[in-house]
Amino acid sequence: MTETALTSSDHYGSEHTRVAGRWISRLMLTAVIGVTLSCSKTPVVGVTTEVPWSVAGQWIIADTHTHTRFSDGNLSISDLVARAQANGCDALAITDHSDVSEKAATPAYFAAINEARATHPSMLILAGIEWNIPPYAGREHMSVLVAPTLEAKILPQFKQQFENNKAKADDALRWLRQRLDSEQQAVLIYNHPSRNHTDVHQSESELLSWRSVNHLVIGFEGAPGHQKNDPIGAYKHELKTVDRWDPVAANMGGVWDHLLDQGHDVWAALATSDYHNDKMDYGPCAFARTHILVPQRTILGVLRALRAGSFWADEGRLLRKLHVTLSAPGLLVPLVPGETARIDPKQPVKLTIALQRDAGAEGSALNVELIGNGALGKPSLLHQAQLKPDQQTINWTFRNLVSGGDKLSAYFRVRVRKSVADGPDLIAYSNPIRLILR
Ligand SMILES: [Zn+2]
Ligand SMILES: [Zn+2]
Repeated sequence: MTETALTSSDHYGSEHTRVAGRWISRLMLTAVIGVTLSCSKTPVVGVTTEVPWSVAGQWIIADTHTHTRFSDGNLSISDLVARAQANGCDALAITDHSDVSEKAATPAYFAAINEARATHPSMLILAGIEWNIPPYAGREHMSVLVAPTLEAKILPQFKQQFENNKAKADDALRWLRQRLDSEQQAVLIYNHPSRNHTDVHQSESELLSWRSVNHLVIGFEGAPGHQKNDPIGAYKHELKTVDRWDPVAANMGGVWDHLLDQGHDVWAALATSDYHNDKMDYGPCAFARTHILVPQRTILGVLRALRAGSFWADEGRLLRKLHVTLSAPGLLVPLVPGETARIDPKQPVKLTIALQRDAGAEGSALNVELIGNGALGKPSLLHQAQLKPDQQTINWTFRNLVSGGDKLSAYFRVRVRKSVADGPDLIAYSNPIRLILR
């Protein structure tokens, strides 16, 4: 059913050519769709969910979940920001616990964050909170990130009304949405989803119930912080991390795959430090890194890219680059994670994975796996390959894809692994690309 072609050539072209090509191609694509629409009733091939900055955007490194002395972290905001910058973070979210006994979302909190913004002008510093989601009495946590123009107004009110176990999560999501011009102004991420669960599927039903209200919650923190801790992630109960990632993301056919199979575009290729102190945690961007392709180097750009799914993440400085693209006849520009396109399922589609090793994988062979539902109609391992230490690119071609649980589409996601003899492997995950097969 599939054909495999290996190549070690470098995939990255000149930025100029790619940007120009992208614009021309999108225009041509629009013209092709227009002609098809007007001439026949055959299925239209084209992009249905686009990441418009997929070529012209820029990659940044981010940590979306950290704590300071405004809750139970050890560092001041200015010291944390300095550490983050020294470690290579371009963007950092301060997400102190919003318990009423803590000092997150107070005037002093925003003043300290604004001071850090002034002293570190090249850093994108998001002022967020880590919310105790009702009714779980502190058991379940969500990072709440909002646009800078709204943070000092919305977050204190949010804390006052919904940091309260009698409050309802659905009401909080509705309340927050009413205060936004659009969903682009906020991103909510379900943190360390399996940490306190007995059954991995609990986080799936929780996520689905929140997303039935609106789509402010974009998905999961796929890899929790506290990576120095024993147990990793401070997963002290029944469920443990799998090679440093939450089982939601790490189990093939698990929660994330099930949601994707059912047609839900939720993201989990996100790794954070959850920095509190040096005993439990690596510093921001020292070990866990989320690589975000942003439309502009602004906080709004970060929020927009997180919402669009244009990011991937690694642990242990595994990879510097992980570019997953999909091309198919009729698509003049390859798709990237976060994007969906309608294709003709009888035509071949080509997946290309181009990576560059970081310090954690220099000179190492890497295992690359392609996970998706397009072969069996349910999530499975579609392909895997061992990349030699000098190999950076692999292509896989598929024909006759079938749709998954939603009876409409198929998705692809990528896992890259470096085997570690005496501990958990180091892993990077991509977000999915989706194809509508009719
Ligand atoms: Zn937490
Ligand atoms: Zn936290």
